Amino acid sequence: MTTVDLPLLPLGRGTDPLSERGVECPGDLPPASDPDLVARAEAAKAALGEKLFVLGHHYQRDEVIRFADVTGDSFKLARDAAARPEAEYIVFCGVHFMAESADILTTPDQQVILPDLAAGCSMADMARLAQVERAWEALAEAGVQDKVVPVTYMNSSADIKAFCGRNGGVVCTSSNAEVALEWAFEQHGPDTKVLFLPDQHLGRNTAVLQLGLDLDDCVVWNPLKPGGGLSAEELADAKMILWKGHCSVHGRFSPDVIDELRAKVPDLNVLVHPECQHEVVVKADLVGSTEFIIKTIEAAPAGSSWAIGTELNLVQRLANAHPDKNIMFLDRNVCYCSTMNRIDLPHFVWALENLVNGVVVNRIEVDEKTEAEALVALQRMLDLPGRTARD
Ligand code: SF4
Repeated sequence: MTTVDLPLLPLGRGTDPLSERGVECPGDLPPASDPDLVARAEAAKAALGEKLFVLGHHYQRDEVIRFADVTGDSFKLARDAAARPEAEYIVFCGVHFMAESADILTTPDQQVILPDLAAGCSMADMARLAQVERAWEALAEAGVQDKVVPVTYMNSSADIKAFCGRNGGVVCTSSNAEVALEWAFEQHGPDTKVLFLPDQHLGRNTAVLQLGLDLDDCVVWNPLKPGGGLSAEELADAKMILWKGHCSVHGRFSPDVIDELRAKVPDLNVLVHPECQHEVVVKADLVGSTEFIIKTIEAAPAGSSWAIGTELNLVQRLANAHPDKNIMFLDRNVCYCSTMNRIDLPHFVWALENLVNGVVVNRIEVDEKTEAEALVALQRMLDLPGRTARD
């Protein structure tokens, strides 16, 4: 198969017809200074009524999340959308791969809209199909491919999920990565290896802390190096082949800040997302998905102290919602997900007002073949035995 790998295109410089990056919104985007934006959003939402369903990811800005009919992580939102077949328009306030997942899980009649097409995910962009196919061929040349099961994190593009679907692999979330890896390691007997895409940290943390593998069982495949930068011997010895990808938000947290805060705050609880680096996760008290983080804080006793390692919009909202608890951010600097933050009120109003006028803008539509193959990998995830305690 011939695949084309695209060079990186910085946002705002030119357009790229084959991806969402660098595109502009056609028509007039309301200025951010418009004092009527909230009223315009309310009016457009009311005019669309039951035809509209607005999904808001936990990392979204407050100004947008207030209009969400449901909030959640990416997989919960995609399932919520699938449970509302009467909604003609699904406006997804999140990033591109999430809108793709929602399109895959909803009916063909439902149209999924991403208010700003430049709202991508840097982690998902780190594993491109052409790179992954090259790696797959290299694994065949190294004589190990027939023992490798590809496992991709939900935070990946639809074509990477489809790659996993057609190659005997599975999708996982941060809640069920342990069960997904256990399933994967059963597929080819004791010599099974996993190619984990695209987040090396979730892969390593789950393999080592939940499955009991050694750090030495994990190698990192660098798509920018020939042969991933690994020898045939290293590939033969490895159990986990981790794709060299990471989240630009969760990758920022560092173990020295944990030490610093523990020295300052008595009885501090450190709660982090498994996308954080291994050195951070091993120093934390609790590790879990976004939903796990929210539930943990909700159940925490008044007066308890928490340093949270996840996206700042969510940490701020948790702190505002729980003034009786001492909640702080686990980084010295402000750390938003910049692409998630591209969905702002002007883009939201622009998308809704176009819908009111019968114009569907920024529709995210996954082609039929990709959708069918991605659904195979998603269905394998839904069929996984049991669930983790942190679901
Ligand atoms: S927080 Fe990280 S993984 Fe989530 S959308 Fe932003 S860059 Fe991607």
